Amino acid sequence: MKKKRLAKILIPILVVLLIGGTIGGYVWYNLTYHPSKWLAEGDDAVADRPFEEVINSLDMMDNTWETALPQTAVHDLIAAHFAAPLPEGKTEKKAIVIGYDGCRVDLFQLLGTAKKSAINTLLHDGGHAIFTYAGGVNYPAENTQATSTAPGWCSMLTGVLADVHHITDNGIVKEVEPKTLLLSLVEDGTIDKSAFYVSWDGHFSKKDATYIGEKQYAKAEGVNATYQRAFFDPGTKCNILSDIKKKDCSDFIFSTLEYTDHQGHDTGFTPANPKYVSAFRDAESTGADIIEAIKARETYATEDWLILITTDHGGIGGGHGGPSFEERITFIVSNKEIPLDAAN
Ligand SMILES: [Zn+2]
Repeated sequence: MKKKRLAKILIPILVVLLIGGTIGGYVWYNLTYHPSKWLAEGDDAVADRPFEEVINSLDMMDNTWETALPQTAVHDLIAAHFAAPLPEGKTEKKAIVIGYDGCRVDLFQLLGTAKKSAINTLLHDGGHAIFTYAGGVNYPAENTQATSTAPGWCSMLTGVLADVHHITDNGIVKEVEPKTLLLSLVEDGTIDKSAFYVSWDGHFSKKDATYIGEKQYAKAEGVNATYQRAFFDPGTKCNILSDIKKKDCSDFIFSTLEYTDHQGHDTGFTPANPKYVSAFRDAESTGADIIEAIKARETYATEDWLILITTDHGGIGGGHGGPSFEERITFIVSNKEIPLDAAN
């Protein structure tokens, strides 16, 4: 009898919890995984126009695609930022890279209609945007490295190309040398600590992940570099925000968001695809929240921040890795001026 009475009480409670949990989980997932849904952007994909025509019309760019810098410029800008003397009134240098994986630069034609945009925020604050290229050499020359994720980010983190860092594709474990900025800046005493925030398991969370050896090296040698992976982009955002909200936050943060790459692979890398545009809005909304958190730091007024937004490659159809124009031309947006001889 007692067991029956217990079941009468427990079963309804379990049913309520199950239904409530399912509805609550669905709402939470949509709120966090697709913030753009709540920005009322609607279906704002654009007509399918030739890539070259669109990128030639982007008037926010400081250079042309023909004079694009190699993506290693990201490394050089960060190194130059930390090497430069502190501006007057500033007591500490910081830098962050917000990476939008697989984000085509022709999406910039949609910046004018963005309700919340990290790129617009940087540009309105006196920032700059330039064309860069993936693939080792500029289009249309035959590319010397795949327009894939691992080679791209590795070139930005090390400042050298695949012939030196040997990351010719995803699924190759990088030797400790050449060191990434995450290690070198801490080891040479330029900064106290660095952090790498991602959701892609190919960075440092699988046996054949690019930086798995580097992560082990950092741990063994006591280098103050954090490697943290979340399951999805909202988790990456939480990890970045909780770092930035600390009084003594990481001096150099490198991060990648997968919104655009995932959606590009699923439904197509083109601004004519509303889902790809929505993914761009998601990345932009996340980036804007990160910049807002930086500006909200108690010590922001005395900090000299370099904020970069970039991508590892473009895409065409449902993929990337190849030599096409759409996969090759990338970008850097910075809160500071970008010397156009940065990589020379
Ligand atoms: Zn990628």
